[in-house]
Amino acid sequence: MEVVLQNLTKKFPSRDRKKKEDVIAVNDFTFEIPDGKLIGLLGPSGCGKSTTLNLISGLLKPTSGKIFFGKEDVTDLPPENRGIGLVFQNYALYPHLTVKQNILFPLQNLKGKDKLSKAQMNEKAYEAAKLVQIEELMERKPGELSGGQQQRVAIARALVKMPRVLLLDEPLSNLDARLRLQTREEIRRIQRETKITTIFVTHDQEEAMSISDMIVVMKDGVVQQIGKPQEVYDSPANLFVAKFLGTPPINIFVGQVKDNKLYIGEDAVLDVKGVANQEVYVGIRPEGFVLQEAGAFHCELNVVEVMGRDISVVSTNKASLNPTVRAIIGTENKVDMKNPTVRFGLVPRKVFLFHKETEERIDFED
Ligand code: ATP
Repeated sequence: MEVVLQNLTKKFPSRDRKKKEDVIAVNDFTFEIPDGKLIGLLGPSGCGKSTTLNLISGLLKPTSGKIFFGKEDVTDLPPENRGIGLVFQNYALYPHLTVKQNILFPLQNLKGKDKLSKAQMNEKAYEAAKLVQIEELMERKPGELSGGQQQRVAIARALVKMPRVLLLDEPLSNLDARLRLQTREEIRRIQRETKITTIFVTHDQEEAMSISDMIVVMKDGVVQQIGKPQEVYDSPANLFVAKFLGTPPINIFVGQVKDNKLYIGEDAVLDVKGVANQEVYVGIRPEGFVLQEAGAFHCELNVVEVMGRDISVVSTNKASLNPTVRAIIGTENKVDMKNPTVRFGLVPRKVFLFHKETEERIDFED
């Protein structure tokens, strides 16, 4: 099911006596979510992710704008008539009911032509349980399950009616690191198997990048960029997006473009053709540094962390806006710890320039 958001805006009245303006939780959001895809809604706390999800679910009414499921305008449709499945961070299972009864619950309220026989309901409940691999837990109560198992029950309950759209709001936040990894892979598998259009809210960029077909990066209610995870990582639209994606995070410097060369401090670190002379923000991904004896970029070496798969070189530079500069290089490199200065060359496609005022990315040719 394709989901279309058309100039979607949600304002909340300000409760602050000194600040009377409304809170604009979602600001003019337009996007066509293609059928059968998994979309990651990503951004820092308070950026409007949950509000967007609640608008799609119908739990909230937009201040303006429209929502379509396929050709159908669902803007004024109550949540129960939208054909959605919802999973929240706190699974909200009924503690006194068994797993099976929890999964059956949404089916028992069906009325009229949708009403199912007991046998049909059981069959559907077992199908959903099988999908999330909890068939053997059907007779247990939620209190007798691990966090990950409870979350799977919540997903089965959301899937049992085969919703048109599946909405997941931080579904993995309550799980420990290993279980998060496993469960996010499962969500991906389930989504691929069912082909249900799925919108997944998270503030964890790695989580969103790893399982989404497309990510939507939001800030202060405004969409910053929409695209395939790799595309957004490789071509961030602005400084915010560049900073938000990537672990370890991108290194940010103040730099100067002068006669087609990029300077960081005194060092002419890269050719940047087609950019007017100006002061810029420079973003360099940790993997954008190459250890070079005669490299143009000088930093003060702090420490070298051997991570097993690669080496993290931690240094400082006066022009850096972060306390340290972090470079990730291969283990075949040897860093001379006796030398107080470390010198790098740069990989041009891992270096981004941003306008000093607008913070939009500036394209260049190397
Ligand atoms: P988090 O990751 O912390 O859940 P979020 O990105 O999901 O954050 P939202 O919950 O959508 O953010 O909130 C967006 C903005 O709208 C925030 O500034 C929040 O304070 C505000 N907001 C949300 N719900 C209401 C409400 N009912 N009344 C007033 N303001 C609200």
